[in-house]
Amino acid sequence: MIKRRRTKIVKIGNLKIGGDFPILVQSMTNTPTFNVEKTVKQIKQLEKAGCEIIRVGVPDFKSAKTLSKIKKQIDIPLVADIHFSVDLALEAINQGVDKLRINPGNFPKNKLKEIVKEAKKKKIPIRIGINSGSLEKEILGEHKMATAEMMVKSALRNIKLMEKLDFKDLVISLKAPDALRTIKAYKLLSQKTNYPLHLGLTEAGSKFPGSIKSSIALGTLLLDGIGDTIRVSLTEDPVEEVKVGWEILKSLDLRERGIKIVSCPTCARSSIDVVSLTKKVEKITSEIKKPLRIAIMGCLVNGLGEGREADLAIVGAKDLTLMMKNGEIIHRAKEKEIFKIFKKELRKYIKKSWSKK
Ligand code: SF4
Repeated sequence: MIKRRRTKIVKIGNLKIGGDFPILVQSMTNTPTFNVEKTVKQIKQLEKAGCEIIRVGVPDFKSAKTLSKIKKQIDIPLVADIHFSVDLALEAINQGVDKLRINPGNFPKNKLKEIVKEAKKKKIPIRIGINSGSLEKEILGEHKMATAEMMVKSALRNIKLMEKLDFKDLVISLKAPDALRTIKAYKLLSQKTNYPLHLGLTEAGSKFPGSIKSSIALGTLLLDGIGDTIRVSLTEDPVEEVKVGWEILKSLDLRERGIKIVSCPTCARSSIDVVSLTKKVEKITSEIKKPLRIAIMGCLVNGLGEGREADLAIVGAKDLTLMMKNGEIIHRAKEKEIFKIFKKELRKYIKKSWSKK
C-alpha cells in the first residue's frame, strides 16, 4: 500500500483534500464559459465520468458573470481560473466559486491584498498555479527554459507572498509539459512545503502520448505519496482526461471506481475473440460506478487463475467457453452464446451484490 504524505487539509466546496482524504480527479471545461448551457452540459458529462472538481477558464467579464448560474446547476465544486485581472478574480469570488486558481505574482501587491481579503471572507482556497511556460522574468533570467528548481523557487516565492498576507488556505501546482521536470519539481517542493499539491502536466498533448506521459509523471509522484488532486490535461474531449485520471488512481489502488478489466493480449492459444468481447464488455459496463473486477482470457493457461480472482470472468477453453463467477465455473457455452450469458450474469451480480449496499 502506498504511504501518502500528509498535507494540510483544505476545503473546496463540500469536499476536503489533503490529510487522509481521497485523491480527487479534476478536469477543466473547454467550452466558452459564457455559454452556460454548453458549459453545464459538459460539466454534467464530466461528473458522470467521475470528475470531482471542475475548473473553468474566466477570460472576460461575460464569463465571470455566468459563474453563479453554472454553479447552481452542477453538483461538484467549481474553480475559476484567472490570469492577470484583479477585477475578474473579485467578480468570480462574488459569484460564489469554490476556489480560485491564480498566479499571485501576476498581481500588484495591493491588488492581491484585495483578492485575499475577499477569498478569506468567503472562506475559499486559492491554488497557486505555477507553469514552466510562464515563470517570472526575474527567476527565468536569460534562460530559455525553466528548470524544476526555478519552478520551485517561483512556487515558494508565491507561497511567501500569500503567507505574508496571512493567507494559508493554499493548494500548489507546478506543471511542465514533460514528465521529468514535473516529477523533479514536485519532489523538490514536497520537501519544502506541507500545502496540498495538485498534480498534472501542462499541455501534455493528444490522447495517446499525453496519457502515457501523464501516467508516468503522476504515477511516479503518487507512488511516492505525493499528490492530493490530479488532472490529466489532454488535447481531447475532457471526459477522456477524467477516464485516464481514474485509471491512474485505480492502477495504484489509491481509489476504486467501476470496472477493472483483466484481459489478455491473445496469442496462438486463444480460442475466443478476446478483443471484440473486451470491447463489448467495456461498452456495457462503462457507467458502473461500484468496483467490479472482470477477466476476459483467451485460454486456460492463465485464464483459470485470473478467473478465480475476478468477480466475473470469460475464459476460452478448447471446446466450450467458460463463464466464471466469484471464482467458480458456472457455465460452459459456445463462444457465440457467451456474451449473452455474461450480460445475464452481470445483471444478476449487480442485483444481488449491490442491492443491499
Ligand atoms: S491467456 Fe492464453 S490466449 Fe491469452 S495470451 Fe495468455 S496464453 Fe495466450
